[in-house]
Amino acid sequence: VTGLTALERRVCEHIAGRQHDLVALLCELIGFDTVTHTPGAPAREESGLQRLLAERLAARGAEVRVAEPEPALVAGHPMVPDGFTFAERPQLVARFPGAGGGRTLLLNGHVDVVDVEPRAAWSSDPFEAAVRDGMVWGRGACDMKGGVACMVLAAEALAELGVRLAGDLAVNTVTEEESTGAGGLVSARTLRADAAIVPEPSGLDVWVTCRGSLLARITVEGRAGHAGIAPRHPDHGGAVNAIEKVAYLVEAIRRLREEWALRPRHPHLPPADCVPTMVVGGEWLVSYPARCSLDCHIEFLPDAAADGARAGDRVRREFEAWIARAADADPWLHRHPPEVEWLPGAVPPAEISSAEPVVRTLLGVERDLGRPGRLGGLDNWHDGATLIVEAGIPAVCYGPGDIHLAHGVDERVPVAELVACAQGIALAAMRFCDADGGEP
Ligand SMILES: [Zn+2]
Repeated sequence: VTGLTALERRVCEHIAGRQHDLVALLCELIGFDTVTHTPGAPAREESGLQRLLAERLAARGAEVRVAEPEPALVAGHPMVPDGFTFAERPQLVARFPGAGGGRTLLLNGHVDVVDVEPRAAWSSDPFEAAVRDGMVWGRGACDMKGGVACMVLAAEALAELGVRLAGDLAVNTVTEEESTGAGGLVSARTLRADAAIVPEPSGLDVWVTCRGSLLARITVEGRAGHAGIAPRHPDHGGAVNAIEKVAYLVEAIRRLREEWALRPRHPHLPPADCVPTMVVGGEWLVSYPARCSLDCHIEFLPDAAADGARAGDRVRREFEAWIARAADADPWLHRHPPEVEWLPGAVPPAEISSAEPVVRTLLGVERDLGRPGRLGGLDNWHDGATLIVEAGIPAVCYGPGDIHLAHGVDERVPVAELVACAQGIALAAMRFCDADGGEP
């Protein structure tokens, strides 16, 4: 490997020598049940995990804070439901102060995971990490306790070797990423940094953008009647099947997806999309359904031209108009227009320039480590978007593992990629925060 300074090579060797410790840390993190928060449910083992990381990082000299933020800090935000609190789900910030005069780097990762069902389908216990075939298996292995273990180990390695950074390096682990995003929102509202690395499973690509999403509910009225009686015309009081009217709108949505798929492509993201995800309709087995609703999950692209408006407003208007036009062509729906409702849970898209210093630093590190160093994007929202949109902190995803294994059965991450990522993060911190002797 060329292009590395002697100190950078020492850091890489040190991390490679700690592979066993890195894997053990990840296995320990997987062992905490941190299935994400649902309203009204008690906390799981989030505080135990955060305390474990706090102790480790404090032992390496970090100034550590583990605390339950005041709910007022996030109340009223569109992502956060009324009555939300952080009870027994503390957030962690561990700061390694720099010597002064350098850029500060934030390492941010979420420690909550999604539910493990169908648990019986796993080849081993999702909360009891297994190491086999060169991989660590368990819930959160790639999304994203693997990335969290990497960023913790990277920071520890720099401290252990006494590498002096000019700027601060902060390790920040949050909860709620898989539910409300409230943990990341606290970070955005309380932390300052010149850039952030979020080690979501990018396969060591550098992701500079993500799509936003909206949740729509369409409700259609039909007219009740006996299902066994031959129908009359609706104009003469006949029954109207609300489920069939929703099927008609599902076809309209299919054409909208086709329209979006053919628009000019984003260099790093798939096209905007609208996925019908839930249908609820009907009242009785022998009755024409009088009511049916259709829920849709809409993913949309970042759009610099829409700046200033609420994220997604343009997409909301287009969706409503598209449904209204389709309805106009149906005599019943023309007179009984479907209602479109926007459900809570919308999240904004985000994008940063590939010329940002943190992006160039990571691409340079990847190339100097003999890897491709590719730019990319994440199809779906993540906490990094909050750091970008709410705090103006340029945030990238750069982490170990395959995003397609996230949220699935038998989630896993290659050990070699964990080591490679920890090395990449450590070197990026040295270059971005200006370590003594850090320039190649
Ligand atoms: Zn994630």
